[in-house]
Amino acid sequence: MAKQHKAVALISGGLDSLLAAKVILDQGVHVEGINFYTGFCVEGHTHAIRQKDKSKPKRNNALWVAEELGIKLHIVDVVEEYKDVLVNPKHGYGANMNPCLDCKGFMVKKALQWIKENDFDFIITGEVIGQRPMSQRKSTMPIIARESGADDLLLRPLCAKFLPETKPEKEGWVKREELLDISGRSRKPQMALANQFGFVDYAQPAGGCCFLTDKKYSDRLVDLWETRNDKNYELDDVMMLKVGRHLRPKPHFKMIIGREEGENKFMEGYRKQFVHLRASSCMGPLVLIDGELAAEDEALAAQITARFSQGRDENSVVVELTDKTGVAKLIAVKPLAENGILEEWRI
Ligand code: SF4
Repeated sequence: MAKQHKAVALISGGLDSLLAAKVILDQGVHVEGINFYTGFCVEGHTHAIRQKDKSKPKRNNALWVAEELGIKLHIVDVVEEYKDVLVNPKHGYGANMNPCLDCKGFMVKKALQWIKENDFDFIITGEVIGQRPMSQRKSTMPIIARESGADDLLLRPLCAKFLPETKPEKEGWVKREELLDISGRSRKPQMALANQFGFVDYAQPAGGCCFLTDKKYSDRLVDLWETRNDKNYELDDVMMLKVGRHLRPKPHFKMIIGREEGENKFMEGYRKQFVHLRASSCMGPLVLIDGELAAEDEALAAQITARFSQGRDENSVVVELTDKTGVAKLIAVKPLAENGILEEWRI
């Protein structure tokens, strides 16, 4: 009996990786999925905690894809190794802080390591020529294959007919004629294919598979690096950039203000690591201070906290300020008047 070959598919949770894996599965190849957790992934994260997003499904799309395909999914934590990819991208950043080309190369390299350790034969990605301006161009496809070390073990089933034959095709592990020739930014061919396969409830394509493609998120990250004068970061930093309203009234401290109950609850878990404030004479959000709050800044921080409380139109609001040792004090302040200054401070 002919040997059944084994492929690992990079699964982001989007439609392209779903289709790419399906095309290869249908050729009788054993496929398992791999999903790399960088800390910036959109999947199953803080977009799920806000009240306004309650109607959106909370599922992890990578897991959903694996379930739809009936394949095993390996979720691999690469948070530490990814730092170097983000901080020192050889090919630079995309429109925001997304180092897509280096990121793709890194993930394929990790997948290559994985197939060697797990006795698999090749790697599949859902890349499509012309789909993304930075990483998915005809000229960048060989760069990813070469720099990852995967070379002809990297197969892109959705656009394979535009690319040189890979080892799985040459060896007859997969039939090249059954691979596809999708290109360009239009999603119509993928949607038609999804329809043909009977996939209906797939994730709608957005700007990218991680927060680094988001301008606001990227601005916050750059602000974090600049004000700390250090590009090092921890997973908690990355999490906090996704949540709340961020204001920087002074260079040495930033305020993270919960915008609603879901965010306040999420931030509660981090409260003890930060100096934090909350109105005590009325309802108001939890406010975390990132940086050093000097004694002369406390009144301003309390005024801003009061501004976002239900007492914003009162003459005086009492705000509780708690330091990192848990010692609290009460400060009575007039809420800050809104005169456009909050917009200037917003990150
Ligand atoms: S969108 Fe994010 S996860 Fe996807 S390739 Fe670009 S940097 Fe990597």
